[in-house]
Amino acid sequence: MITVNEILNQQELSKQDIIRLLSITDKGDQELLIKKAYSIKESTIGKRVFLRGLIEFSNYCRKNCYYCGIRRENSKASRYSMTDEEILEVVDFAQRKQLTGIVLQSGELSSVDFIKRITALITKIKKATNPEFRITLSLGEQSLETYQRWFDAGAQRYLLRIETSSEDLYKKIHPVDDLHSFKVRLKCIENIQKAGYMTGTGVMIGLPFQTIENLTDDLLFIKERDIDMVGMGPYLEHADTPLYNHKDLLMPAMERFNLSIRMIAVLRIMMPDINIASTTALQSIVPLGREAGLKAGANVMMPNLTPLKYRSSYLLYDNKACINEDTDDCLNFLEKRIRMIGEEIAYNDYGDSIHFIKRK
Ligand code: SAH
Ligand code: SF4
Repeated sequence: MITVNEILNQQELSKQDIIRLLSITDKGDQELLIKKAYSIKESTIGKRVFLRGLIEFSNYCRKNCYYCGIRRENSKASRYSMTDEEILEVVDFAQRKQLTGIVLQSGELSSVDFIKRITALITKIKKATNPEFRITLSLGEQSLETYQRWFDAGAQRYLLRIETSSEDLYKKIHPVDDLHSFKVRLKCIENIQKAGYMTGTGVMIGLPFQTIENLTDDLLFIKERDIDMVGMGPYLEHADTPLYNHKDLLMPAMERFNLSIRMIAVLRIMMPDINIASTTALQSIVPLGREAGLKAGANVMMPNLTPLKYRSSYLLYDNKACINEDTDDCLNFLEKRIRMIGEEIAYNDYGDSIHFIKRK
């Protein structure tokens, strides 16, 4: 049988190769994979990390995804929505900390009021920041018209995870109804690209019922769809969600963590010039999990700038990292930890995905 080393020395990875790499159990083999991915990241992007400040500004959501702690039917979640003023204060903080952009994330709403509010908010943020300051949105499924309106108002990037590229698995982790349609989700990703955004997607790793072949198809999906940025991380259970009933099917958290690290590494080998985020979910399993993600080929981190008083209400999963730490301390700490692994924060670079720039 061909060795991992031999696979890593090939020009292209076949589906079988990807399955093999994701299935690695040997520590030495995993190290080889990580080293290869990091060397590719280093030669295309450098030893640099791009930071974006994450603002989880509201947990109101119209959807009922089976895995998520802020799903509509979780009556235990205490709901909040930050005011524009509160959001602008965080934007101001981000600028003072030399961050070159922010990510606005919330539960999914689609009312006319919500759409208008976000358009106005983007305009306010544009006024309060330098013209280059990057605004990323992560506000779920919207119409092409809405995506276009927000883009025209000044948002440049959009994140919408496909969650899984398998329609069968998608149906197992969402209610089967019009509000949770796999086909609509796919269409939304296309529309985000059409509207002109730098487009991000991603998946959850280690879901109940998920196979290595599903994850392999996820990576091939990301490549085929010509995605610019990826955020993917381990699925983590939340006790007040329907998917919790299947927790006996889950692999141990450390295995989900290692599989996530291999997913990042293989994707970096497949797509050397995209942006890959090292997610909070990694840090929620291993304290230095996000740094491990960087060492496996990720190049973006999204420090949480949500005000502390709201942070513990934005619980997508249990044991979320960083919900009690002061934002300032978090950032200082982050800088030290990034230096510790021999990388530096790229303060003077907006960190657009090279993949996106090349296509333009
Ligand atoms: N409502 C928006 C953005 C907020 S949810 C949306 O759904 O796109 C952002 C991401 O959190 C989701 O895409 C999902 O991948 C992730 N997430 C939700 N619940 C999770 C869980 N239990 N474990 C890991 N990730 C989860
Ligand atoms: Fe809402 Fe997003 Fe959670 Fe689904 S994953 S319930 S859309 S916040």
